[in-house]
Amino acid sequence: MKAERIKASIRTIRGWPHEGINFRDVTTLFEDPAAFRSVLNRIAGWAEEEEFDIVVGIDARGFILAGALAYQQHLPLVLVRKKGKLPFTTISEDYELEYGSATVETHDSPIIEGKRVLIVDDLLATGGTALAAARLIRRLGARAVSFAAIIDLVELPGREALTKSGIDVYTVID
Ligand code: 5GP
Repeated sequence: MKAERIKASIRTIRGWPHEGINFRDVTTLFEDPAAFRSVLNRIAGWAEEEEFDIVVGIDARGFILAGALAYQQHLPLVLVRKKGKLPFTTISEDYELEYGSATVETHDSPIIEGKRVLIVDDLLATGGTALAAARLIRRLGARAVSFAAIIDLVELPGREALTKSGIDVYTVID
C-alpha cells in the first residue's frame, strides 16, 4: 500500500485539543483494516531486521500497535503507562509538556536488563514522551533502545532529539 493511501486513512481534527493544533486522529486508521495491516507490516519488516528482544508500548494508542507487534514477532510486551495506573512497584520519569508536565511509569521489571528494546507509539512530535519512556527503559538496564511510530510530525524536532540520544527511529509516514 502506498504511503498516500495510509495518510488518507488518518483524520485531521483542526483546532483540537486547542486552537492552533491540527490533531492527527489515528482511530480512523485503526478502523481501516488494510491501512492498519500495512502500517503493522512495515514496522514489523523493519523490526525483524533489527532483531529486538522486547516490545514496549506507550499509553494508550501505542499499546494497540505494540500488542500486535509483540504477537507477530513472538516477543515479550512491556507497558509504559501514565502515572498511577500500574499495580506493582514502578519507576517513573517526568517530562515537559507545552503547559506543565507529565509522568510516565513502568513496572520495575527484570526482563529489560541487557536486552534490545523497541518502544512503540502512534506519533512522534517533540519526542518528550518517547525520551521519557527511553529513560525508564535504560534505567532498567536495556542494552539498546529504538523507537517506532506511525507518524513523524517533521516540523517538530522529535526525530533529531531521539537520534541525538542514541535512539534509532523508524516511522511510516511524515
Ligand atoms: P511528543 O511527546 O513527541 O511531543 O508527543 C507525542 C505524544 O503525544 C504521543 O504519545 C502521541 O500519542 C501524542 N500526540 C501528540 N500530538 C498528537 C496528534 O496530533 N495525534 C496523535 N494521535 N497523538 C498525538
